Amino acid sequence: MGAVIAVFNQKGGVGKTTTVINLAVALSRDKHRVLVVDLDPQANTTSGLGLEKITEGGVYSFVLGEEAPFVERSPNLDVIPSSADVAGLEVELSGVEGWQSYLHRALEEYREDYDYVFIDCPPSLGILSLMALATSDYVLIPVQTEYYALEGLGQLSGSIALVQESFNPNLKILGVLLTMSDGRNKLTREVTHQVREYFGDYVFQAVIPRSVKLAEAPSFGKSILEYDRLNKGSFAYKKAAKELVKRRLADG
Ligand code: ATP
Ligand code: MG
Repeated sequence: MGAVIAVFNQKGGVGKTTTVINLAVALSRDKHRVLVVDLDPQANTTSGLGLEKITEGGVYSFVLGEEAPFVERSPNLDVIPSSADVAGLEVELSGVEGWQSYLHRALEEYREDYDYVFIDCPPSLGILSLMALATSDYVLIPVQTEYYALEGLGQLSGSIALVQESFNPNLKILGVLLTMSDGRNKLTREVTHQVREYFGDYVFQAVIPRSVKLAEAPSFGKSILEYDRLNKGSFAYKKAAKELVKRRLADG
């Protein structure tokens, strides 16, 4: 049975999408079967993986239990693309009984076809993110190594505790991944230290460096492994992927 992993941080621009793209490609190249569900109306994962943005009939339809495309992006890597209409679900599902289990139901019959299912969440704790967290076995939290990251950590832990209490007692934190790190910068080192104090062993050993190539790659529809395989970001995401597998196995 595949592990369903929501990549979530309600803070915007911390590297959620970059993490989904690169971990998904790294794992699929290591022969794991991977499905990426792009639940963000911004559709950055969809385009960053080189797929067409679509206006309707993507993940919106999937969530509602209708026919939806599973695009074969590359060997072992399928994607359910986002569609702009998915933003409407925030309104359409609010007040609908059992809204939090729509995605779970939709994924049910596909889970065994994959080893890993990644859900890219939008940067808010609205219905889409809550639904992703309610569906998932794990949450993976990218944290940008900058001063403001620390301010959000309490809120982040609170959101996850809320989901565990309200919808999904089985949700576990798979880990916290430090992103956009600049090891030469004193602030980065301080923030890294404080995040490790706060989250302890949850923090991945692998740290994702800041790299212009990592930011460029999605405009070519490529992961960093495909765009510049010798880039430090490529090594970091490959290391993070191996660590993710270990953590999951350790969990049983
Ligand atoms: P949102 O909350 O809007 O969905 P996000 O959390 O998904 O954002 P990304 O889109 O992955 O974050 O990253 C935000 C921006 O930072 C993007 O322009 C991305 O290319 C860039 N970026 C991400 N990781 C790195 C990195 N390690 N080095 C340099 N740039 C990065
Ligand atoms: Mg994103």
